Amino acid sequence: MAFKTEYAKKVYAELEAKNAGEKEFLQAAKEITESLEVYIEKNPKLQEQKILERFLEPERFVQFKVVWVDDKGQFQVNRGFRVQYNSAIGPYKGGLRLHPSVNASIIKFLGLEQVLKNSLTTLPMGGGKGGSDFDPKGKSDMEVMRFCQSFMTELYRHIGPDTDVPAGDIGVGGREIGYLFGQYKRIRDEFTGVLTGKGLSYGGSLARTQATGYGLCYYAQEALKTLKNTSFEGKRVVISGSGNVAIYACEKATQLGGKVITLSDSNGYVVVENGITPEILAVVKQIKEVERGRIKELANRCPGVVYHETTATDRVWNTKCDVAMPCATQNELLLKDAETLVKNGCIAVCEGANMPSELEAAKYLIKNEIIFTPAKASNAGGVATSGLEMSQNSERLSWTFEEVDQKLHSIMVNIFNASYSCACEYGSSKYDLLTGANIAGFKKVAEAMVAQAI
Ligand code: NDP
Repeated sequence: MAFKTEYAKKVYAELEAKNAGEKEFLQAAKEITESLEVYIEKNPKLQEQKILERFLEPERFVQFKVVWVDDKGQFQVNRGFRVQYNSAIGPYKGGLRLHPSVNASIIKFLGLEQVLKNSLTTLPMGGGKGGSDFDPKGKSDMEVMRFCQSFMTELYRHIGPDTDVPAGDIGVGGREIGYLFGQYKRIRDEFTGVLTGKGLSYGGSLARTQATGYGLCYYAQEALKTLKNTSFEGKRVVISGSGNVAIYACEKATQLGGKVITLSDSNGYVVVENGITPEILAVVKQIKEVERGRIKELANRCPGVVYHETTATDRVWNTKCDVAMPCATQNELLLKDAETLVKNGCIAVCEGANMPSELEAAKYLIKNEIIFTPAKASNAGGVATSGLEMSQNSERLSWTFEEVDQKLHSIMVNIFNASYSCACEYGSSKYDLLTGANIAGFKKVAEAMVAQAI
């Protein structure tokens, strides 16, 4: 264990005992505890007030049953979750994930990360997260609708525009948000901004769909400029995933002059040596967003696309690149992948998904002076734009795409500056944006918790 202080070691040991077996949650909590201890050591008042213990414990955790009826008329049972992690600086805010792997550990890790991420945006949002082990893959629209309605029939009592505002995540896009919003409105008889990621016809914000991927590239652009005095121009970019984050990261990286070589899903990856053009990306959007198909299909529809089935040794990260952007899911980039990337000359790993890199991989990259942009900073553009959607809903106004995109851009530049400045002050080197982002996000939350005695 790499803790430097007895205090952090003790806090983490107690957390581990209380949350035994919760692998993802403990991984995130350990990373955060390790990077905060230097800051807490310099601010003894925080230790006296047990701020770390208070910070790591969620304010509320709800688990519930979701019963729905499939197209064959059979009852199905799933498990629903919402963690309301921290409301020191604003109402709870964070997405809903629908994926068979969802469990308490995953929801808690995402909720904890969300607290720091939302603080980094500088908008007044606390942290929360939720979801279900329901698998939307292979389900009809009507099945997804019945599931969402049943899920909201329980969730509605825990959320509200000034209490807790959920959004999308893996498996939750515009379709699901529509069904969830409709059911909330039906039960509460209120038209409010209770969810973000809404359709444009009923209160959604322009540029929300693009925000996480675009924001990731804006953050990466700042990091490339500041740490390596370079840009996306002419860079080979390897992206994993082919969902919302991956698609719009691909679009923006290309607009900024990069050449995106790969996209993937949980079965395999496609390599396009000449780069994914806007025309090829349009086919990806049709396959993934409209047909809800597999990335493999791209090879049948576009020349120059080679499909690889992912195995333990044939991995998307073996593709030679300058910039790698993991945009699929947690722990998809292992230490061995980080080693391969470095060996092949990669200069930056920019996280689009939440906690896509194992902690050992992240540490290896930082040690080797590779730009490593941690998810809670570099993928905060999605929730930042959700915050902008909340502002527009409160104002009863909607801003243009350019206005939102410009605000997103300046938020991402500010997040980079805040995390870089804390990396220089507290990190192992100026490349330690991991420590930098954790401390930059934590400062404001800790101060608000102390003030409110919560
Ligand atoms: P989508 O559901 O749109 O896409 C997810 C992508 O990741 C798909 O290509 C999917 O492939 C792949 N994937 C999911 N689970 C696994 C797995 N276990 N192994 C390998 N691949 C997998 O989700 P998003 O693009 O919205 O989210 C991607 C990541 O970004 C998540 O970590 C999410 O938490 C994070 N994020 C998303 C934000 C947003 O605004 N959407 C905001 C901030 C973070 P397949 O179809 O095969 O499952």
